[in-house]
This record gives sequence, C-alpha cells and structure tokens, in this order.
Amino acid sequence: MRILLTGGTGYIGSHTAIALIDAGHEVTLFDNFSNSKPAVLDRLREITGVTMDFYEADVTDAAALDRVLNERAFDGAIHFAAPKAVGESIARPLHYYKNGVAGTVALLQAMERHDVRNVVYSSSATVYGMSDDLPLQEDAPTEVINPYGRTKLMCEEILADLHQSDPRWNVIALRYFNPVGAHPSGLIGEDPQGVPANLMPFLAQVAVGRRPSLHIFGDDYPTPDGTGVRDYIHVLDLAEGHVAAVEHLQQSPGFDVINLGTGNGVSVLELVAAFEQVAGVPIPTEVVGRRPGDGPASWADASKAARILGWTATRDLDEMVADVWRWQSHNPDGYPD
Ligand code: UDP
Repeated sequence: MRILLTGGTGYIGSHTAIALIDAGHEVTLFDNFSNSKPAVLDRLREITGVTMDFYEADVTDAAALDRVLNERAFDGAIHFAAPKAVGESIARPLHYYKNGVAGTVALLQAMERHDVRNVVYSSSATVYGMSDDLPLQEDAPTEVINPYGRTKLMCEEILADLHQSDPRWNVIALRYFNPVGAHPSGLIGEDPQGVPANLMPFLAQVAVGRRPSLHIFGDDYPTPDGTGVRDYIHVLDLAEGHVAAVEHLQQSPGFDVINLGTGNGVSVLELVAAFEQVAGVPIPTEVVGRRPGDGPASWADASKAARILGWTATRDLDEMVADVWRWQSHNPDGYPD
C-alpha cells in the first residue's frame, strides 16, 4: 500500500513511517514543520535506507493536498497533523480549531475529490475526560474539558458522520494513551519545542541536565503512592498499531474507535524510579500542587485492539525508558536546526 502520513515528520508520524516501511508499504510524508525539523528526514533515511517521499505543506492548504493526491495513488491516509498541547489550546483555541478541526475537514474533502476513502485518525484518550471507570473501554462516556480534547472528539464525530453519509468511507480512530519511548537506534525521538508539557520528555531533559528538577504535580491523589497513574505505551508499539489499523481497513471496511494502550498503569514515582535505574542518573524531584485538569488515573482496556486488529503492545516500561534515554543522551538538544 501507499499511505499518506500528514504530520509525517512529527514524533508519532516518523515512527509510524518506519513501521509502515518495515511492513513492506510505501509512505508519503506531508508536514509543515510546525512542530518538527527537516533533520527527521535524514534520520529516517539513515534508519530505513529509504529516502522518504516528502511534501512540505500545511494540512489546511487545499491546493497542496490536491497536489499530493494528484501526484500519487494512495490506498489511505493516517492523519496525525494537529497541534496537541492542552495549555496552548486554552490560550489559542482558534489555532486549535483551525489546524485540528478545519485541517481535518480540508484533508477529508481533498481525499473525497481524489476518491481515497480510507483514513486512520490520530485521536486521544483525553476524550474520556476524568472518567474513573477503569480500565477505559471504548464505549465509556466521553467528556472533553479543553479545546484540545474538543478538537479530537469533534474530528471523531466528523468522521462518524462521514461514514454514516457514505459507507465507502472507512475509518479507524485510534485513541492513544501516553506515547513515550523512541526508536532503538537513538536517531529519532520526541523533541518538544520549549518547555515539555508531558512527563517523559521533561524527565529526560532533567536526566540530561537541561532542567534542574522535575515538578511532580500532586502526591495526594487516591492512587497507591499518591501520584498520577497513566498508561505509557512505547511509540513503536503505537506505530505498529497504525500499521495494523490501515491493513485492517483494506480487508474490513467500516467505522471503529479503538484504544491503543498497554492496559497497565504506572505512577509518576514509578516512572522516575525506572528512569533513575535504567539511566543510572539521579532525578531531582519536587512535589508541587496538582495541575488543573489532571485526573488521578487512566489506563486502557486494550482488548478491542487485540480482538479487531490482532495487535497488542509488546514493549515494557524498561524498554520505553532505555529508548528515551538513548535518544535524549545522544541528542541532548533534540534535532539539529
Ligand atoms: N506530570 C508531572 N510533572 C510534569 C508533567 C506531568 O508530575 O512535569 C504528571 C501529570 O500530573 C500526570 C502524569 O505526569 O499524572 C502524565 O502527564 P502527561 O502530561 O505526560 O500526560 P497526561 O496528563 O496527558 O496523561
């Protein structure tokens, strides 16, 4: 198959490009470098031996989408391109609705014009809100509490409406839990711009000496050690989940929403301890107040992905941490400009 990856040079997109190539598919990456760097393309070539087919363009740009869809025959698209920081979404909602929602509509319209109707959508477990009905199943009630979460839920609903209107549209929305880790080569990984909003990249930057200490956002949650519990999943497991999803769409068309997680919860303190052990460096921490909008615990019921896609996560926490540490210690400042 040839698959279009919007957001293809981003953290999850780049790892998915490798997984697709490893599975024998061809990829075209489409990205505006708003949250990634051109160096990713060199690293992908180094890892795969393949020079990636690449378009530098914005997913809201209909003419650019038409160009790529005219020039290649695609079997489907995986739509990653979207901004993804909760705090920024509260400060800049229009940026989120333009790029997250209008960008998705622009992509789907362009796909329709070119008769490409298989799409895997990059959704998030954030659509479950603060639900404490664990493990989270796909039919749990959704609740979104910030513009970022709303963009994800709105796009799922747009895709459901589209499938309803025309069953030739085949859709799988993948709800990611907490993607972490990096390719074991240490050549690609997560490279957030500015202060990392997420735990693992922040922890990695503390470990490498870029930041003095990790702020633990609350140790008084109703969890075994009082810190927040999440379902961390290796980005390569996540990437392989996308390969399973696009392959599934070819054989079993329809509309589905599927969790990608491990099914295991890990606390902030457990993650810090794993990092200290694997990296062999102490991580200074400081407990501060809870972060607004955070819930105590979230982990997936991952059985639907196993049942429908034949996919389960295989990489454990130590492997996630070891791969993050290799990436971060080899690239302390992230990708070169
Ligand atoms: N967290 C923390 N310090 C940080 C960033 C995150 O203690 O600098 C905690 C956060 O409260 C949550 C967990 O780490 O319990 C995972 O947070 P992250 O932002 O990575 O993911 P999300 O909240 O979206 O699940």
